[in-house]
Amino acid sequence: MKRSKKISTITKLLLIIILVIGQYLYTTDQRRQTEENKETTAEVTDDPLMKVHFIDVGQADCILVENNSKYMLVDGGNNDDKDVILDYLNRLGVKEFEAIIMTHPHEDHIGSIDTVILNYKVKKIYAPKKEHTTKTYEDVLNAVMETGNTLQAPKPGDSFSFGAVTVTFLAPSKDYGNNLNNWSIGIKVSNGKHSFVMCGDAEREAEEDMLATKLDLSADVLKLSHHGSDTSSTKEFVKAVNPKYAVISVGKDNTYDHPSKSTIKMLKDNKIKYFLTDEQGTIVITSDGEKLLSNVSPMQ
Ligand SMILES: [Zn+2]
Repeated sequence: MKRSKKISTITKLLLIIILVIGQYLYTTDQRRQTEENKETTAEVTDDPLMKVHFIDVGQADCILVENNSKYMLVDGGNNDDKDVILDYLNRLGVKEFEAIIMTHPHEDHIGSIDTVILNYKVKKIYAPKKEHTTKTYEDVLNAVMETGNTLQAPKPGDSFSFGAVTVTFLAPSKDYGNNLNNWSIGIKVSNGKHSFVMCGDAEREAEEDMLATKLDLSADVLKLSHHGSDTSSTKEFVKAVNPKYAVISVGKDNTYDHPSKSTIKMLKDNKIKYFLTDEQGTIVITSDGEKLLSNVSPMQ
């Protein structure tokens, strides 16, 4: 009788030990699962899916970079493009911008930026330290002041990130006097796998200066500067970027004869596939972290 009582006490003790160990394992497993969930959440935040929308705004630039419902706008078309731009942004459900970059103060790059600033929350606004005397430029400055925003002038090598996207500034690197095109802010946008270089209307001199910075200019996609004009996209610059694709944001029958025939020939000679907004409308190029995809087929 005494013996069996002893056995039953041992059994009870063993049961308790098993329960405690079981509870411990369960908690550990739960903790591991929570950690796994955290990892999954982190993956969602860092989703590399990056979409670059070259919005068709005629003879002008307006580029929207999207990653994980975070947005950056590079340039804002002409004054007359505000409805097209707002419609596009609203259709995507854009509520605020991580950053707006005004490459340089010409109307075809900042025309509707005032409307965008007045209608959306903007965390950062970048512009080169070069003022202009036009009403368009004044409207933008007023919108910046009215909304309590400030302008930041980046230097080559500066960078910032949002989501999985890193933006590195390539230009401007010096005072270009009254050549507003050369004052263009140049950027490289990357999701870690694919990258895009876009430099507003930067011409030969600014391209030479970007090469001199020794920053890594290589990219999968190059937005040709100055709407495909032959004042930009020098052989050396294009060689350094070494893009698979080029995008030309340009208006139908524009008076500047953009893009220039020599630029198109250069693309063909170098077997760089290209997109034209005047022929193909808005171009959307997507990197899913593995492949580059486009909403339309390139011209060649
Ligand atoms: Zn332009």
